[in-house]
Parts: sequence; structure tokens; C-alpha cells
Amino acid sequence: MEVRLCAARHWVFDMDGTLTIAVHDFPAIKRALNIPQEHDILHHLAALPEAEAQAKHAWLLEHERELAIASVAAPGAVELVRALHARGCRLGILTRNAHELALLTLAAIGLGDCFASADVVGREEAPPKPDPGGLLHLAAQWGVAPEQLVMVGDYRFDLDCARAAGASSVLVNLAENPWPELTDHHALDCAELLERLG
Ligand SMILES: [Mg+2]
Repeated sequence: MEVRLCAARHWVFDMDGTLTIAVHDFPAIKRALNIPQEHDILHHLAALPEAEAQAKHAWLLEHERELAIASVAAPGAVELVRALHARGCRLGILTRNAHELALLTLAAIGLGDCFASADVVGREEAPPKPDPGGLLHLAAQWGVAPEQLVMVGDYRFDLDCARAAGASSVLVNLAENPWPELTDHHALDCAELLERLG
């Protein structure tokens, strides 16, 4: 059963492109690392010889660290998270980014104090979305049923993940919704979502 948004007490956010303005230039990263454009970066690196893979992972982490430090909040994201935090809601992050870089990013946009480190689930802590493992992990950690969770994201993996876990989903930061059949709620951005919560 879908939880009513106004009554929801357990919120999980995607980070890149949801709480921040998306800045990863994946084609440029692939050019820099000599990865064919049609390949998935993490999959490609996993198939390389150990030394080359390590060197390229190190470059990637350093590049992503610079992006994290320079992160800019998406419209209304800081206000929404602060409002939910002030209401005493449990707040988590589920990201395909690294845990350490997620913490850096949250600090950079001024939300470092709103999320407990254990509630920031990165690519080392759970199978990547669209796998529902990260949401199930947070539900167990918080002692609630997955149906009590609301997942806020900007991509279909976030919606798929919520649907597979039995959680409610909110799609933000897209004027048109390309995936209406996967979406429980659609808001233009976090500012509109906050407005709707009253
Ligand atoms: Mg995203």
C-alpha cells in the first residue's frame, strides 16, 4: 500500500541529479580513460588487468572528488531536506557514488548534518540500483516495512528500485515524466515537492 506523502516519516534520496545539479560528464570521463563510449565505466574497469584498473580507478575517484567538492544543490533540495529533518523524519541516501564522496557532496551543499553516516548507502554498501537491496537495507536498519519508505530520484533506476522494494517513489527534476507507469508521484523539483507536503 502506498504511503501518503504528507504522512511519510522515512525518506531516501538519490544524490547526483536529485539533491545536486548533475555534473558528471561521462563521455569526457570515458575519453580521458580510453574507454569506448558505448561501454559502462565500472564494468569496463573491472575487466582490465589489475594494475591498469587500479590506476584508472584512482583517477576516477580523484576526478569524482573534485566534482563532489564543487557540488551545487538542486532547486529546493536543501529546503526540502532541512524541513523533513526538522520534522524528525528519518533520512537516507542511496547512491551509485562512493560513500566517502557522498559525504563530501552532502557537506558541500550544506546538508552534512542531516544524514547519519550509516544511512548514506553507496556503491560499496549495497548492490547498485535498480537492485532494491539498498532500500531493504535502510528499512531493516530503521525497523520499518519497506512500504513505509519514500524514494526520491531523477532516473528510472530510482523508480525501479522503489517498485521492487515495495516503497513509494517520487520523480523530480524532469519537466516531462518519461516513465509514468513506474512513478507514484512526480514533482518538477524538490521545491515543488516541499510545497506539496504543506
Ligand atoms: Mg541521479
